[in-house]
Amino acid sequence: MERELRAAMARKGPPAILRRKPVGAARGSGDLAGQRVLVAGAAGFLGSHLCDLLLARGAAVVGLDNLQTGAARNLAEAEAHPDFRLDVADISETLPPRLRDGGFDRIYNLACAASPPRYQARPVHTLLTSILGSRHLLELAESCGARFLLASTSEVYGDPTVHPQPEDYRGNVSTTGPRACYDEGKRAAETLALDTERMGCCEVRIARIFNTYGPRMAGSDGRVVSSMVSQALAGEDLTIFGDGEQTRSFCFVSDLLDGLVALMEHDGPQPGPVNLGNPDEISINVLAREVARLTGSRSAIVRRPLPVDDPRRRQPDIAKAGRLLGWRPTTPLEDGLRATIAWFEAEARPSVSATPSQAVA
Ligand code: NAD
Repeated sequence: MERELRAAMARKGPPAILRRKPVGAARGSGDLAGQRVLVAGAAGFLGSHLCDLLLARGAAVVGLDNLQTGAARNLAEAEAHPDFRLDVADISETLPPRLRDGGFDRIYNLACAASPPRYQARPVHTLLTSILGSRHLLELAESCGARFLLASTSEVYGDPTVHPQPEDYRGNVSTTGPRACYDEGKRAAETLALDTERMGCCEVRIARIFNTYGPRMAGSDGRVVSSMVSQALAGEDLTIFGDGEQTRSFCFVSDLLDGLVALMEHDGPQPGPVNLGNPDEISINVLAREVARLTGSRSAIVRRPLPVDDPRRRQPDIAKAGRLLGWRPTTPLEDGLRATIAWFEAEARPSVSATPSQAVA
């Protein structure tokens, strides 16, 4: 980890994500030793951290990614591990035949652009990635006898009329708006995964992930935390869409991944979709003030019109994850933001232009 991040950690103590056993530790040791895992979307923000975590816990990992929004450099730590390999392929197309020899025990499907400007740039591909891509990975799971986990999203709730959102809330989603390629793709992928399990083909887990942030987010991808941090560090104005009173609940990446692996490893009958996210809800205005305070930025706020179908409120009900997995997030927003800011400082300070949506999947 970069020098600035180490310095920040020395001041604050490391966030959970950096307290893990270092990648490259003894091969095959750890609670997941012997497990063979495929991570689709491995080069992305969450996927790359998931690979590091699984390797640190002893699993052998094959990463799969088309590098659409991910970056190979996110996998620098994983690539140094003898039990990691990256295959570059698009899950919406026929999978490379060599994967059939992988003998996977677990398949995580995180492959899908998650930032609205990125997934809206290729809407048909986004929809097919969720539907056809999940289909291909489910077929692979069946052929290997693997358990499959779908990284679904809080976007399946759309602009919710129930607050906070429990898993049995069916959502308020547009089927035709600019976000539908992502939201409806994930909803269909949930259906596909559960129907595949009902047909006796493979075991399935579904995580409905709420806004997650942390190191390795792309500074230019239009998600609110990465955009604001990049803007603040570059001395640019902080962009707020709408009046800034819309809310989100931000989960630090290490907390999210602990929940994701716990859900994958949860044995027993089909638990149904499980919300994973941090229930501490804050407005975008408050987030902007926090980012400005922690970066020491004097940036002004500029306001832009709210994008179409942008949800007003978003807060997970995580009672089910607590009951089922004994999971809840533990990283305070300030600690997570400090770690994220330190990472962005260590990066090349990418310049960010305001993008038409801050609302992340
Ligand atoms: P990301 O864009 O950083 O990562 C997605 C990865 O998938 C990228 O590496 C991309 O290149 C790859 N990919 C996209 N389409 C592909 C395809 N057709 N074939 C192969 N690879 C493909 O996004 P992320 O934040 O890491 O999100 C990971 C997953 O979690 C996504 O499925 C997303 O929907 C879900 N999710 C994320 C959040 C969040 O806050 N980060 C919230 C809800 C859901």
